[in-house]
Amino acid sequence: MAGGGASGLMAAVVSARAGARTLLLELNDRPGVKLALTGGGRCNVLPRSEPSGEYVTTSSANSLKRILAGWSVREAARFFRVEAGMEPTPEQGTGNLFLGSGGAAMLARRLAGMAAEAGAEILTGVRVASIEPGGAVWRIGTGGGAGFEACSVVLATGGRSWPWTGSSGRGYALAERLGHTVRRTFPALVPLLRRSGVLGGLDGIVVDAALRSSFGGRKVSSRGSLLFTKDGFSGPAAMNISHCVSLPSASGSEPPEVRACWLPEAAGAAMAELSSHGGTLGGFLRAALPARLSSALISMAGLDPGKPACALDREARAAMQKVLLDCPLDIGGDSGWRKAETTGGGVALEEVESHTLESRLHPGLYFTGEMLDAFGPVGGWNLYWAWLTGRAAGLAAAARRRNA
Ligand SMILES: Cc1cc2nc3c(=O)[nH]c(=O)nc-3n(C[C@H](O)[C@H](O)[C@H](O)COP(=O)(O)OP(=O)(O)OC[C@H]3O[C@@H](n4cnc5c(N)ncnc54)[C@H](O)[C@@H]3O)c2cc1C
Repeated sequence: MAGGGASGLMAAVVSARAGARTLLLELNDRPGVKLALTGGGRCNVLPRSEPSGEYVTTSSANSLKRILAGWSVREAARFFRVEAGMEPTPEQGTGNLFLGSGGAAMLARRLAGMAAEAGAEILTGVRVASIEPGGAVWRIGTGGGAGFEACSVVLATGGRSWPWTGSSGRGYALAERLGHTVRRTFPALVPLLRRSGVLGGLDGIVVDAALRSSFGGRKVSSRGSLLFTKDGFSGPAAMNISHCVSLPSASGSEPPEVRACWLPEAAGAAMAELSSHGGTLGGFLRAALPARLSSALISMAGLDPGKPACALDREARAAMQKVLLDCPLDIGGDSGWRKAETTGGGVALEEVESHTLESRLHPGLYFTGEMLDAFGPVGGWNLYWAWLTGRAAGLAAAARRRNA
């Protein structure tokens, strides 16, 4: 295994347990550095439900579907409960499965322990610098140190997000050198940046919002908490739609518009109430939204907050409705790899076998996790992807070793 993050650790556990001689090479001085930080230390280990259209890929949608069929969320939850002895618990409100305070670091240690107990050798502080196919044996070169030979290699070196944790895109170069197509990578689940001062000065405000944009010519929407930051927007609503902005930005094109509905719960009813409201426009909005945001939205619509709501003429009501339900956020870009929680793009899914993640170009080479061209929204979906791809690749690599 090249890379001892979430997917590499899972691959090492299942491969060693299947009886294959397993070596895990990790760049950092300990495995699972990023894993130990997930979910603010509480590790959102799995999503609340089985997948049904959450993931984004720029590769084949059919390949993605087939890969996702490999291990259900239910079976994965059972693995963590029964095999790892850690109870994933639904979070109140979202239902997403968390391990609780300190659970992320504990899981990183537990998986490394499970791999070692099953006989895997874990070498830390080792950078995989090259991998070369040589018939039945792969030659693995390390930065300056001794090389290794193996009958199969799992590339689990992660993506480009949070590069200081060790995953800074090195694996993509290794895959490209072996002739694989690496689809353009872009920061995903990343805070968005405002271009202008519109809706500025509201940092710290959190609201429930519905955002709309487009990706690859298709409409995309996200609903959830939106956090106003000093220079833009964060929180699940913004992060889950951020790829609409970051892919075009990474390609040097103008990002599409992102629009917000500030009253997602009862948009239509709210506008009807506005016409019959007995108080001021400002009072009406403050009942539904934080005061500072209400003032900013009224000023965006060019209206007077002290005006009686029922006295707004048709034109004024239309201007207020537009700002409340279809508000342009004037997004100019994203906060980049240092703040992105995952990576969009990566090794083309068509170039791997769906059930094993084995390269279709090089037998004995496997890809897992963020190396592959797919990611999911906030909510445990990216670790689920790491677990299921790591498990499939680890089992297949072990079977190949046994059959060699
Ligand atoms: C702050 C933060 C919080 C997150 N929280 C969640 C969450 O709660 N739930 C969720 O589902 N997802 C979460 N994610 C996303 C999730 O952590 C990743 O998608 C997942 O860890 C990817 O797994 P991976 O195995 O592909 O890569 P990684 O876990 O990044 O592991 C890759 C490993 O490879 C090593 N490596 C890289 N290059 C080399 C090399 N050349 N030689 C040797 N080793 C190398 C790296 O050091 C690293 O340890 C979070 C991400 C971040 C940044």
